[in-house]
Amino acid sequence: MGRIIVVGTGFSGSILARKIAEECGRKVEVVEKRGHIGGNMYDEYDEHGILVQRYGPHFLNTNKYWIIEYLSQYAELFPHNTKLLSFLDGQYIRLPFNFQSVQELIGAKRAETVLRKLRENFPGSDRVPILQIVDCPDREVSEFGTLLFEKAFRTYTSKMWGTDVNKIDKYVLERVPFAMNYDERYLNKDFQYLPKKGFTEIFRNMLDHPNIDVRLETDALEHIALEERTNKITYDADEVELLIFTGPIDELFQYKFGSLPYRSLDIRYESSESEDVLPSEIISFPQAEGKTRSTEYRKIMFDDSGARGSVVATEYPLWYDPNAKVGNIPYYPVVTQESEALYGRYLEEAAKYKNLFLCGRLAEFKYYNMDVCIEHAIAYFENVKEYLRHER
Ligand SMILES: Cc1cc2nc3c(=O)[nH]c(=O)nc-3n(C[C@H](O)[C@H](O)[C@H](O)COP(=O)(O)OP(=O)(O)OC[C@H]3O[C@@H](n4cnc5c(N)ncnc54)[C@H](O)[C@@H]3O)c2cc1C
Repeated sequence: MGRIIVVGTGFSGSILARKIAEECGRKVEVVEKRGHIGGNMYDEYDEHGILVQRYGPHFLNTNKYWIIEYLSQYAELFPHNTKLLSFLDGQYIRLPFNFQSVQELIGAKRAETVLRKLRENFPGSDRVPILQIVDCPDREVSEFGTLLFEKAFRTYTSKMWGTDVNKIDKYVLERVPFAMNYDERYLNKDFQYLPKKGFTEIFRNMLDHPNIDVRLETDALEHIALEERTNKITYDADEVELLIFTGPIDELFQYKFGSLPYRSLDIRYESSESEDVLPSEIISFPQAEGKTRSTEYRKIMFDDSGARGSVVATEYPLWYDPNAKVGNIPYYPVVTQESEALYGRYLEEAAKYKNLFLCGRLAEFKYYNMDVCIEHAIAYFENVKEYLRHER
């Protein structure tokens, strides 16, 4: 039996490492480039006792309760419905845009007709993507959709993705729908939770297993060699039995076909002596220059009794550049027709290595939410288990 290497300690890497250690009874070497576990889910208490998510705010939302139960094995969770406001034309408007926002944006009198027609055109729908409202055959509904799209959606999306809205994958555009009621929850999933002491505790407990050895501050690519002639993978010149890679696939192949595009974030913090700074835990800024949203972390803490003052983190999206001082973390894969084609070439290359397994947001170049990412990693483990059984 050879070495099993898992690269990355986000949900994908940590879940797979734990399952191999526990269910296959095998030793797993987990290698992480950063100085901490958890990937982009990492959080920590800052000097004011505030639990800050260092790579932007993350909320667990799912319709599958078993995902909550699965994570509860590793840390205690509490229910939390995420609430957002958008700062538009000098006023705070509920996000997702809902029936209340229609009234706030166009006034109650005009809203009466638009609301009736929205109900008529989308009967039985709980949430509708804004693009469907724009494309609605009814002129008044479509005009309202266009107003929303131009005022809030186009500007926010182009800032976020650094490209014209028309080039963005439809799945991404459908992520911010319109609520066909007065529902104030940002997402309409049934189960919305946060971990009481932060996400990092989940990863710490998941990786705490006698068969798992975690090495931080280790760039796996300085140790891994993919030998093109033999299609063998080595780590520090030792042939490996299995390599699970959850980092960016283009980096693994040394950008041989070119770089895949990712958006990154410059997150700037502002501390305050006040305990209550923003009118909601997250404010989005579709019209502001550069920034997209601000998060006040104290507002989402389960227990803030040890906290002093408050801190607001504001996100400024920019292109990912591994060599830049700011923007050197890949956050969001930018899925377009061109980038998917490029990804396809890397995938063909990866298929030549039978013991290389690619899992996760970066390795699969997909916009996974954490619930989907967790479910996917658990299902993906079956392929890994099958491979290990076969190899023996
Ligand atoms: C700003 C932001 C907000 C989000 N908000 C939500 C939300 O509210 N709700 C939700 O459900 N989902 C959210 N998501 C999605 C969620 O974060 C992801 O689904 C999940 O974190 C992906 O986990 P992963 O393990 O696939 O990737 P990652 O967490 O990115 O893990 C990859 C790991 O690999 C490591 N790595 C990479 N290259 C190497 C190397 N060469 N050597 C060693 N280690 C390496 C990285 O350092 C990292 O730790 C959000 C994502 C972002 C970016």
